Amino acid sequence: MARGELNQALTKAEKAEVFRAMQAEIRGSGHWYRCPNGHSYVIGECGMAMEQSRCPECGESVGGGHHALLRSNRRDEEMEALYRRP
Ligand SMILES: [Zn+2]
Repeated sequence: MARGELNQALTKAEKAEVFRAMQAEIRGSGHWYRCPNGHSYVIGECGMAMEQSRCPECGESVGGGHHALLRSNRRDEEMEALYRRP
C-alpha cells in the first residue's frame, strides 16, 4: 500500500484526532493544505505560505513563498471544515 493510500484511509475520527493535536500545537491559528500526494499539513501563524518545506510523509515540496502556495499543493477543504467547527 502506498503511503498516499494509507493517508486517504484515515477515518474522520482519526482526522479529528490529528486536527486536535495540531490545533493545540498551532494555538488555534493557521490553514490546512495538502502536499502533491494528498498528505494534510498545516501552516501556522498567518496561515499563508511563507516558506517552502518538505512533506514529513513523502518528502514532496510543500508550502510556498511570499503568500503564494506551490501549484502542486492545494487547500485541504476537509480539514478546514473541521477547523471551523465550533
Ligand atoms: Zn506528502
